[in-house]
Amino acid sequence: MDYYSSHITRLIEEFSKLPGIGAKSAGRLAFHVVNMPMEQVKELSCAIVSAKENVKYCKECFTLTDKELCPICNSDKRNHKEIMVVENTRDLAAYEKTNKFEGVYHVLHGAISPMLGIGPNDIKLKELMERLRGDVDEVIIATNSSLEGETTAMYISKLVKPTGIKVTRIASGVPVGGDLEYIDEVTLLRALEGRTEI
Ligand code: ZN
Repeated sequence: MDYYSSHITRLIEEFSKLPGIGAKSAGRLAFHVVNMPMEQVKELSCAIVSAKENVKYCKECFTLTDKELCPICNSDKRNHKEIMVVENTRDLAAYEKTNKFEGVYHVLHGAISPMLGIGPNDIKLKELMERLRGDVDEVIIATNSSLEGETTAMYISKLVKPTGIKVTRIASGVPVGGDLEYIDEVTLLRALEGRTEI
């Protein structure tokens, strides 16, 4: 039996498809939206649609951007021969906040996870190897220190080694399983500076 209007039920269903939103939170959000002023609801739905319509992958590093090339790849102040490989755009943002990394990035959009059925072809690895055909001095692997992150790091290092390009891994000052975006800047910098060749 439907306790609510079917519109509310539908809204609850949509919210509960989002990551980290359980049935309870979905209900809370749905009722909140229904009680919001119309203007605000329109703002929210427009923001969602326009983000989806305008945000795309940078054709060089695959971070999310609204231009062909993101501002980092487009900058001549960055060292384009030093590529830091991260799992997602939020990790990139975490390193950018330190203001100390002068190289460029490569965003994988995930990590290899045999358990979840995510293989090397499901992340932007081929694209990384294509970039390495250019003039590159060092690949810094900054995937998380989770099992998936470590598996991905090993996999990348095996792929890159034969090219003769230096491969390094950020130091393991980063807590195991910790998402890079939640780690403070000092720890991130220490991890970057303490990187070792693998
Ligand atoms: Zn880019």
